[in-house]
Amino acid sequence: MRTIGHWVGGRAVGESAAGGEGSRTSPVWNPATGAQQAQVLLASTGDVQAAVRSAAAAFEEWSQTSLSRRAKVMFAFRELVNANVDRLAEMITDEHGKVLSDARGEVQRGLEVIEFACGIPQLLKGEYSDQVSTGVDMFSFREPLGVVAGITPFNFPVMVPMWMYPVAIACGNAFVLKPSERDPSPSLFVAELWKQAGLPDGVFSVVNGDKEAVDAILGDPLIAAVSFVGSTPIARYIHQHASANGKRVQALGGAKNHAIVLPDADVDFAADHLAAAAFGSAGERCMAISATVAVGGAADAVVKAVSTRAEAVKVGSGRDAGSEMGPVITKQAQERITRLIGSGADEGARLAVDGRGLQVPGYEQGFFVGPTVVDEVRPEMDVYREEIFGPVLSVLRVDTVDEAIALINANPYGNGTAIFTNSGEAARRFQRGVKIGMIGINVPIPVPMAFYSFGGWKDSLFGDKHVHGPEGVSFYTRAKVVTARWPHVEHPADASFSFPTSR
Ligand code: NAD
Repeated sequence: MRTIGHWVGGRAVGESAAGGEGSRTSPVWNPATGAQQAQVLLASTGDVQAAVRSAAAAFEEWSQTSLSRRAKVMFAFRELVNANVDRLAEMITDEHGKVLSDARGEVQRGLEVIEFACGIPQLLKGEYSDQVSTGVDMFSFREPLGVVAGITPFNFPVMVPMWMYPVAIACGNAFVLKPSERDPSPSLFVAELWKQAGLPDGVFSVVNGDKEAVDAILGDPLIAAVSFVGSTPIARYIHQHASANGKRVQALGGAKNHAIVLPDADVDFAADHLAAAAFGSAGERCMAISATVAVGGAADAVVKAVSTRAEAVKVGSGRDAGSEMGPVITKQAQERITRLIGSGADEGARLAVDGRGLQVPGYEQGFFVGPTVVDEVRPEMDVYREEIFGPVLSVLRVDTVDEAIALINANPYGNGTAIFTNSGEAARRFQRGVKIGMIGINVPIPVPMAFYSFGGWKDSLFGDKHVHGPEGVSFYTRAKVVTARWPHVEHPADASFSFPTSR
């Protein structure tokens, strides 16, 4: 059995500890076959502390490295990731299960954050005000924080960590990544690419693990900031504990993303996009559409069109070129999704398409759930209230666009939302009325480009700053403002016991 360890001080560590006294491991499954393919070491508190100490030592040199040198490392890293898109995609597919084309898209979106971070000399330009008082200048610039940590979910094992570390490292920080224990391999491969790119040892580390490793990060006084992406209960926990320990923190949580369809929308266009947004990556995207709100007379046509598409989705191994949708991540996830579909039916919803019990020939033990459409869902049902994180699209029916907006705003999550319409007036009312961080107008998955920042509202994000883009640079740096005077004999002495004012 292959053992997946950690990456500390510029080298792989830990494999030999497997089976050693006190070492804990977790299985890494192949979701398509249902077989265990590896085991990953779960870091102890001591393992995390060792990685953080190595990062703290590396920070001293890296934070003093010139901006142009840091940018050169970023450009070299960009080239290496770009040259290895296919290899990274295969690693993602083998451990996560998503289809290869989707995995390639994930790497591409991560690459775009690296490209954004290549512009770090421009992004870190400060401000300068000449002569704010007679003979006095004022200027500001931003400095890195120190050692910063990222704790990331299973569903984007490459892209979500890349929302964080390119920006953090370009800003001059040292980064400790705690990826999901479900699909840990790509992060270790990325660590090798950083080394090849010329990043000094210790600036990027990977510690695999579970709650013990996370708690070690939250409690380590050498860590200045924590970025988290995952489910809402854990995001809330991370935010509370990291804040209580004096760390800067951004914790992105779960989601329940709604798409409104108005009667004036093109039904086929909306149904194509709804199916892709609900069933792509088996619904395991934080920006997946999981609830359609059909307004007025739109409902019957939308349910019919989206059901036709759901039935046509080609479900299979992510490695098969013909597959459009792969398995879900674990057997537990398969069981949870199946139970929630059943609860919808029990509570009076109508299963327009029922994906439970799907068998994929040759992959009978795989963790598959077929695309599912649940019609006539009401807000009090579990199938609506819980984040299913599977290929399940609920349909709710309302009479007006204002009712649809009110329904969205009553939901505790606030990650993404979309509207399908041909009415500019309705779209504008929607974009101004919803209490949601990311909004699509005839765009079902409105993920901001790398040069904007990504983040939800309400229970989808705890903390003040969104990830990557300008807010990412701001999160990973802090400002200094300098007031400078070079005394000259011609200037009168102006020291005063009153509070200083300009003259
Ligand atoms: P998760 O919350 O179970 O795990 C996320 C991370 O937290 C992992 O690294 C995991 O090891 C760690 N963790 C798990 N349990 C913990 C505990 N009790 N204490 C401390 N740490 C713990 O999430 P997941 O299942 O890996 O990912 C799916 C979730 O992530 C969904 O809720 C999805 O909506 C969310 N997500 C959100 C975004 C976003 O941008 N808002 C993006 C991707 C995923």
